[in-house]
Amino acid sequence: MTTLDGKAVAAAIRLELKSRAQAFEARAGRKIGLAVVLVGDDPASQVYVRNKAKACEETGIRSLTLTFPHNAPQGEIVRAVTSLADDTTVDGILVQLPLPDRLDAAAILAAIPPQKDVDGFSAENLGKLARNERACVACTPRGVMELLSRYRIETRGKHAVVIGRSNIVGRPMALLLLNADATVTVCHSQTKNLREECARADILVSAVGKPAFVTADMVKEGAVVVDVGISRINGKLCGDVAYEEVSERAAYLTPVPGGVGPMTIAMLLTNTVEAAERGLK
Ligand code: NAD
Repeated sequence: MTTLDGKAVAAAIRLELKSRAQAFEARAGRKIGLAVVLVGDDPASQVYVRNKAKACEETGIRSLTLTFPHNAPQGEIVRAVTSLADDTTVDGILVQLPLPDRLDAAAILAAIPPQKDVDGFSAENLGKLARNERACVACTPRGVMELLSRYRIETRGKHAVVIGRSNIVGRPMALLLLNADATVTVCHSQTKNLREECARADILVSAVGKPAFVTADMVKEGAVVVDVGISRINGKLCGDVAYEEVSERAAYLTPVPGGVGPMTIAMLLTNTVEAAERGLK
């Protein structure tokens, strides 16, 4: 079994991006800028935002974090996003999710112009992806595709099964695999015969969020298994896949941590660099 080492691949990508960020700065006379909007004091979100800011700094991207208290009015947040949209030194904008329930997340996200939507969550970017047109693609599924590609794993004609259909992982993941010529099955909480569906997969991507959800009997001998899930057991990170037993059957497998997670951040940086470069043309 070969480990799909997302940490190592992400490090190589970040090195490539560093020189692109330098080249951009030389041409544009300013650094690439990524703005992150954080509402409330959810500890996990705070950690994610800090990690994104750190990754930006290490890549030579200017990061700007706007924090709002959990009770900030909707209008104030929308106005802030709108002013970032108008700011020519800001190339990418992301709003850290989840937002507090009382807020209209869709309305806040709609204030991000598609060309600065580095999370790829907008209807326009998801719609373009569905039409197989060039789009800003959600970071996690894009990271999975990049990881497969760097290990030269063929998707054309392969049977790919995606477990999960969220707008940020499962759905764009299925579309990317389809656009890469795989035959795609999407499974979700209402799927009957999940085990049989998964056992037919040449490429199995799990994005559920339940520890040890994918067991060896769900995996075809020699399959490529990508574990997107992140859960915590006694403070320790784990994925959806029962790692030990699945590693006996899979040909390729991502670890958690060190698999898809680092690729997600690398793709956020990639989307930001690409957004900046597009703005220069
Ligand atoms: P979500 O809760 O929105 O979606 C989970 C999906 O799992 C749903 O579509 C649901 O239909 C499906 N599901 C739930 N129970 C099921 C069952 N019994 N059988 C089949 N399908 C079932 O979550 P999400 O935002 O898509 O994230 C999924 C997981 O990926 C979470 O663990 C999240 O933390 C993780 N995640 C990781 C990264 C990363 O960078 N590695 C990024 C985003 C999300």
